[in-house]
Amino acid sequence: MAGLIILIFALALGAYLYNDNKRRTRKNPTPSGMHQLLQENVTFYQNLSINDKLAFESRIIDFLEHTSIRGVDVEIDDLDRVLVAAGAIILIFSFPDWKYNNISEVLLYKGTFSKDFETEGGDRNVLGMVGDGALHHEMLLSKPSLRSSFKNPIDGHNTAIHEFAHLIDKADGATDGIPEYLLTRPEVLPWVSEIHTAIQQIRSSNHSDIDSYGATNEAEFFAVISEYFFEKPDKLKEHHPELYAMLVKMFHPESSR
Ligand SMILES: [Zn+2]
Repeated sequence: MAGLIILIFALALGAYLYNDNKRRTRKNPTPSGMHQLLQENVTFYQNLSINDKLAFESRIIDFLEHTSIRGVDVEIDDLDRVLVAAGAIILIFSFPDWKYNNISEVLLYKGTFSKDFETEGGDRNVLGMVGDGALHHEMLLSKPSLRSSFKNPIDGHNTAIHEFAHLIDKADGATDGIPEYLLTRPEVLPWVSEIHTAIQQIRSSNHSDIDSYGATNEAEFFAVISEYFFEKPDKLKEHHPELYAMLVKMFHPESSR
C-alpha cells in the first residue's frame, strides 16, 4: 500500500513538474477568445473550412508558444498577438511541418519608426523590419500598420505578411528574393528571370499595379508580391499570369492540407 502511495505521489509530482516546465517555456498564453478574434478580423481564416480553421488555430497556438510578442511603449492585447501569428501562418499554412526557426520575438511599435528604430523625430517611415546582426531573430512591426493590414484585407498590403515573407526568404541563409525552400532547382532560374522582368516593368511604368517598393531589389519584390498574392490573387492572376502560376507553385494554397 505504501509503495502504491509513493508511486501515485511520484507520478503526480512528475506531471506537475512537466506542466510547470511547459508554462515556463511557453512565450504567450493562448489568447482567450481566439476563434472569435480570428473570425472577426482575419479574412483568410473566415474562408477556411471548419477542419482547416482548427488546423489554423493550432498553428497559431504553436507559433505563440515559441515567439514572444511585446509592445515597445505601447499596450498590446490578444488581438495584436493573434494578428501577428496569423500573418506568420497564412504564408506557410500549406506546409503543416513548417516552423519559423529564425524568429524568437516580435516587437510592436506605437507608430512608424526609423531605420535606427527611433520612434520620435523626422525620418520615420518604416512599418516593419526583420532584424539582422544583433537583432537577429527579432521582427519589428508598427502596431497601427498591423491592425490596418487586417482591416483592409484586399488592398494588396499587409505588413505582417511582408515581413514574414522576408523571414521565409531568409531561411535559406540569404535574403535575396529567392526562397529556396519553396522552389525546386529547375524553378530557380525562371523565378529569377520573372523577378527581373517584373522589376523592369515597375521601373519603366508610372502606374504599375505592383507596389513600386517591390522594385527596390529582389528581396523586396518577393515580399511585396507575396502581399499581393495573398490579398488579391485574382487580380494578380489577371495581370501577371506567369508570376501568379509561380507563386501558386511556391505556396500551393488549397493543397496539401
Ligand atoms: Zn521589406
